[in-house]
Amino acid sequence: MHTCRNCNQSFQTELALELHRDTCTNGQLLCEVCGERFQEGAATEDGWHYECPNDDCDGDGLEQDLYRVGAVRTATQ
Ligand SMILES: [Zn+2]
Ligand SMILES: [Zn+2]
Repeated sequence: MHTCRNCNQSFQTELALELHRDTCTNGQLLCEVCGERFQEGAATEDGWHYECPNDDCDGDGLEQDLYRVGAVRTATQ
């Protein structure tokens, strides 16, 4: 069983999980500077200051450079 770490949904195959990861937005942040998506936990250590986990990217600040991916899409659910 393969489980998505973002939303805890389980999948029969690794491929199914890979496909799901592309669409899973649960708990993800998008960095507008480099376009990278990552887990919210990867961008903050104290839950207060957020910065892009990419070493070569200067993006920081929730709702400044980093946006919650799910927040944009919740209207469609
Ligand atoms: Zn997921
Ligand atoms: Zn970035």
